[in-house]
Amino acid sequence: MSSVKEKRFKKLNRRRIWPSIVAFVLFILLCVGMVALFLQLFALYIMGTKIVRQYGETQQVKAILDGFLSNGNEITEIVDSMHMYTFNASDIYVLDQDGQVVARTGSSEPDFNMVLDFKLDQMLDLDEGFVAVADNSSKIVYKDSKYTIFAVPIDEVIKETFSPGREHEGLGEWLNRTIITQKYWLRTSLASGEYEAYVKCIIDVQRQDIFYVCIFGIITLLLLMIPIILLFINTIRSIVTQRKMTQLIYLDAITGGKNWFYFRNYAERVLTRLRNSRKAFVIVNLHFERYQNYCACYGVKAGEELLEAMDGFLTARVGRNESFARHEGADFGLLLACDGENDQENQKNCRKRISSLLAELTGLKPDQKIHFQAGINMIQPYIPEDGKWYHTRKNVDINQLYTYANAARMAIDYKEEQRIAFFDQEMLDKQVWEHWVEDNMESALNNEEFQVYLQPKYSPINRKLVGAEALVRWISPTEGLIPPGQFIPIFEETGFVTQLDDYMISRVAKLQAEWMIQGKKMIPVSVNISRAHFAQEGLADHICQLVDAYGPRHELIELEVTESAFFDDKDILIDTVKQLKAYGFHVSMDDFGAGYSSLNSLKDIPLDVLKLDGEFFHGDDDDGRGEIVVKEAIQLARNLDMRVVAEGIEKKEQVDFLAGQGCDMIQGFYFAKPMPVAEFEEKVEKDA
Ligand code: C2E
Ligand code: MG
Ligand code: MG
Repeated sequence: MSSVKEKRFKKLNRRRIWPSIVAFVLFILLCVGMVALFLQLFALYIMGTKIVRQYGETQQVKAILDGFLSNGNEITEIVDSMHMYTFNASDIYVLDQDGQVVARTGSSEPDFNMVLDFKLDQMLDLDEGFVAVADNSSKIVYKDSKYTIFAVPIDEVIKETFSPGREHEGLGEWLNRTIITQKYWLRTSLASGEYEAYVKCIIDVQRQDIFYVCIFGIITLLLLMIPIILLFINTIRSIVTQRKMTQLIYLDAITGGKNWFYFRNYAERVLTRLRNSRKAFVIVNLHFERYQNYCACYGVKAGEELLEAMDGFLTARVGRNESFARHEGADFGLLLACDGENDQENQKNCRKRISSLLAELTGLKPDQKIHFQAGINMIQPYIPEDGKWYHTRKNVDINQLYTYANAARMAIDYKEEQRIAFFDQEMLDKQVWEHWVEDNMESALNNEEFQVYLQPKYSPINRKLVGAEALVRWISPTEGLIPPGQFIPIFEETGFVTQLDDYMISRVAKLQAEWMIQGKKMIPVSVNISRAHFAQEGLADHICQLVDAYGPRHELIELEVTESAFFDDKDILIDTVKQLKAYGFHVSMDDFGAGYSSLNSLKDIPLDVLKLDGEFFHGDDDDGRGEIVVKEAIQLARNLDMRVVAEGIEKKEQVDFLAGQGCDMIQGFYFAKPMPVAEFEEKVEKDA
């Protein structure tokens, strides 16, 4: 996945539910605040109403007192008969200018010195001129630099509220009961200016007040519940959507399990955790062999069902700190934890575990033949350079680690019984090299980076140069001289070898033509033809065309076919060899004795030359058995009317032995190594 795509995915995934939850919580807080505010306002309203009534009554008392005084009545008389004029006769105190009590009703008295900080006259837009003072039955319940709060002692209230005999009261009475009483006095100057009157005010908070406040609160709450419920539903929905989205982002569309994106994130997290840095893990590439064939046989649906079953199977097999996901096609990536004490033990345990996994997987379809391979990349415990414990694995790149596991898996041959391979650097180097070769081979051919080297063949009798083999060398501007062993097998696999062979045939034909024009000594040159070439129809005609483009005599060109080619389609091979011979080319069997020799092919195919593989002459031959084989092989070739070339000859004794056995030509480092054309031409001048 590209980094841009990945970022987008991560961003999508990061759209978390927090905003919805935060919005919901904020809204709830707002609602609670609003309810509290409404309740306070409502309570204030109730209290305000009561206070206003008290003011009203005090104003009424003041008006009555002022009225009677202006009519010349005595203040004492007026106060005594006050209950006749007002409905709720309050306690009254009247003081003259000297502060002497001149008249009073009731038993309680104001605390003249304790002026209350009531600003209610301003708050409630009342006439000024009233000052509140505490009642002497009140006590200070709170006091700071700003406020002093008086209240009637709670035990008095309780006494009053819960006094005996009230158990059988009706609901109306029960609601009417006072539960809090606030007593204070309002002081006002009478109009005459001679007196100051104190009128006692009692503010009773009844149960019904609380009841009203509660009802109000409940109604407000109920009203607010509607948006709260809606918002709650919305929040839940967004949580569910988010969950679903997360599941989708991490869902593998085919297996229905976790996908690669999840696996990568998870595995990276596991490997970079501090507590895991001292533990060994493995990244495994689990490969379903020939999945395409399986789908072709049983259908794509059955294939996908099998992948789904694999997902279920693996889910049951992975534990803590482990995970897996399908990578692509029928390949799964696994992160498994190792529990061994050391590297060897880890590797052993891991091999055992994965072997049994593969065996169990094969059993998923007992009636069908399915096989799996596993490439394993060991991730060793992380030991920091300075040995400090707090370092963790850094820059863990799961894709890279998986690529290595994949490289290990790719190195397993399908034919191998062993289906598990551990990654090592050599494997990777090999794959990197193969990739490089495949990337560069076409351009190398166009840029003529492939060059013909010639290795002379000598007669063991007169030691004269009598022939040569054309061997390719890749002279790369970046890699230098690359020997054929490093690229021919890759070319053979990709099929590119046929193009190279054509190129070599053309080059050799051109060279022969040039030698002819230049009047040089003509030396027959053999060219290697890959077995892949023999699968082509009309190969003989094709080679004929290539050679004829330059015009040298056909018998100067010999075509070497490796022995292994004789195991392919024998009929085509026989036809091609016969045609080539009919065109006048010579044909040789290269590397005879290197692989599984098919003596039978010698019977059927009319070859001109038998090239004994260099392996006959390498290694110890103390008991002389090798010599016997060579001797018999030469004899066999001679009986079949074939010439014999011995390859890889490095020692004089070998030359002498071969000369004695009637070997026709010798090719080997003893005489000369493969060399560039110019050098070869000089050699011809001297040795031919
Ligand atoms: P080959 O055709 O059997 O070529 C002989 C190989 O043996 C050459 O290796 C040569 O350098 C090596 N050799 C010769 N004498 C000695 C000796 O005394 N000691 C040792 N140790 N080696 C000796 P080279 O050039 O590396 O080629 C390897 C193989 O690559 C060839 O084996 C041939 O199969 C293939 N090849 C080379 N050029 C071509 C080509 O143009 N086309 C195709 N299809 N294959 C080629
Ligand atoms: Mg050869
Ligand atoms: Mg050979």
